[in-house]
Amino acid sequence: MVATSNQSVVDFALVDNRKDRPIRHLIFAPKPVLEYAVVHEMCHLKHRNHEPEFWDLVGRVLPDWQERKTWLDKNEHMLGWEKVEPLV
Ligand SMILES: [Zn+2]
Repeated sequence: MVATSNQSVVDFALVDNRKDRPIRHLIFAPKPVLEYAVVHEMCHLKHRNHEPEFWDLVGRVLPDWQERKTWLDKNEHMLGWEKVEPLV
């Protein structure tokens, strides 16, 4: 199965329903990070958890997934629709 539109990406996100994380904002993420999010959700079609087998599968598709995930974990809050107030 291949994502053909941003709506497909949103649909994939519904697989990972343990997170309360809207994926629509990822359209503003760098393409490698968006790819990671799609691959992550597609791998949940086989493994509905984050056990080592899941991450092994992610790694077979994206060997550098950890770098992409680190970027997302660090910057995701900057991708929201809400205005981000500067730190004082
Ligand atoms: Zn997940």
